[in-house]
Amino acid sequence: MGKIVDEIADSSGIEVIIESDKTAPRCPHGPTLLFEKTSNGAGKGRRFYACSACRDRKDCHFFQWEHEKISEARMLAREEQNHSKMPLFTHKEYCSRFREFVSLPLEQRRFCVDCQLLILPGEWANHTKHKTLSDDITVQRLRRPSQLLCPLENKKCNAQYLFADRSCHFLLDMLSGLGYHKILCVGTPRLHELIKLRNMEGKSHTMKSLLLDIDYRYGQFYGQDEFCHYNMFNHHFFDEEEAVVFFQDFLCEEGAAKVVMVADPPFGGLVKPLASSFFKISMTWKKLQNNESDAAEMPIIWIFPYFFESRILECFPSFSMLDYQVDYDNHPLYKHGKTGRKQSPVRLFTNLSPKEIILPEDEGYRFCCVCERYVSAGNKHCPKCDTCPSKDGREWRHCDECARCVKPSWHHCSSCAHCALPDHPCGQSQIGCYNCGSQNHKLRACPKKHNKRRMQVRGGCGAQGLSKHIASKSTAKSKRKRTVT
Ligand code: SAH
Ligand code: ZN
Ligand code: ZN
Ligand code: ZN
Ligand code: ZN
Repeated sequence: MGKIVDEIADSSGIEVIIESDKTAPRCPHGPTLLFEKTSNGAGKGRRFYACSACRDRKDCHFFQWEHEKISEARMLAREEQNHSKMPLFTHKEYCSRFREFVSLPLEQRRFCVDCQLLILPGEWANHTKHKTLSDDITVQRLRRPSQLLCPLENKKCNAQYLFADRSCHFLLDMLSGLGYHKILCVGTPRLHELIKLRNMEGKSHTMKSLLLDIDYRYGQFYGQDEFCHYNMFNHHFFDEEEAVVFFQDFLCEEGAAKVVMVADPPFGGLVKPLASSFFKISMTWKKLQNNESDAAEMPIIWIFPYFFESRILECFPSFSMLDYQVDYDNHPLYKHGKTGRKQSPVRLFTNLSPKEIILPEDEGYRFCCVCERYVSAGNKHCPKCDTCPSKDGREWRHCDECARCVKPSWHHCSSCAHCALPDHPCGQSQIGCYNCGSQNHKLRACPKKHNKRRMQVRGGCGAQGLSKHIASKSTAKSKRKRTVT
């Protein structure tokens, strides 16, 4: 695989270089990624290594120029630092602690909120100054760790947005219906949890599930065959040898147990490193199948906002984006309300066949026979574009001059020669071509104009603007509005 360059798109002119680099130095989050700083787009910029998982230096301050010589002393300090950031216990230790914990009588079960740790009676003394939960830590509650643990809300690193049960059940019913009984949950702790709960209820087909997540707090609740401490931006398993065995075991499809992967990465994450990890997972799966058909691809559902469509499809051309809107419990914006539902921008990207994924009729989805897929209620088929064009669920409108459908809020602007928001910065379109992003021509002269994926949005809609915390950042919000609304 050649090198892939991804723009961070936070207009800082920093790109990530993905090449199989075995020499990358390590931060507490595993091998770092190589970035390139391009000054004003001219010439080759300087390259440096930085953390794969944390976009904010405050969370992981690792930094090293590409060919920088590191002194022995600094090397040692770094190793020490990496070591100090490891979880308090190994996964095995967490497991034996859990067994001990559940064997305790109810009144001796405590959870330290400050440490986010199930604590044993011998350890109480160390937590006397901490806030602890001691009432009713029933087996029932231990089965829903996503409710016991407080969601990590670090904007740039770990933002944890938990699915509404409705979205979880939709996914599981759909996958079970298609015959998938093994779910590789990448960054989807709540889905994992619900699979286990549904198995216990015994109402649906039993499913197996393996959770890969960087949030090692989950290791307290799940065995080694159920959870791996994993970084999805560099495909790194933290307890390397052991976890990999469980991971590979899981990917082997014995009998009729078909595997599907469901990933819900933090939205601030870079597409290329994620795609590269998912590609590696998919290759591992492929190697482990004694399949006759080489053409088979590992079934994947990648959950991400619709504005990333062109970037995801660039990495995975066989994927398509579905209209289904994924809802979250603890997200102020994307929550499914009873009245006047807020539309979630989060979609499913998948290599499963769209026509087989039946979207719930009671939420307004319907089947388009021309497109052969289920679409949102407002997504009307446009015969001129020969597609159901809406990305955001609203009804789009065809503009004859632009020869494409546009968002309902856009108007055709003759001085810009394309559709835009009424208050767009008219005439001073620094954005260049609306279709391909080039600075050298306008939309009209775009050689790629008839490219199927011409709806892509370029420029400032970067990782930062699209962070799951978009709601709380008014600056990011208004910035984004200009480019994508
Ligand atoms: N909707 C999902 C949660 C998605 S939030 C659910 O309800 O199950 C994103 C998840 O990705 C969190 O669980 C977070 O811990 C995990 N995550 C964040 N960064 C990660 C990384 N670098 N590697 C692996 N998992 C990560
Ligand atoms: Zn790091
Ligand atoms: Zn259609
Ligand atoms: Zn149209
Ligand atoms: Zn127009």
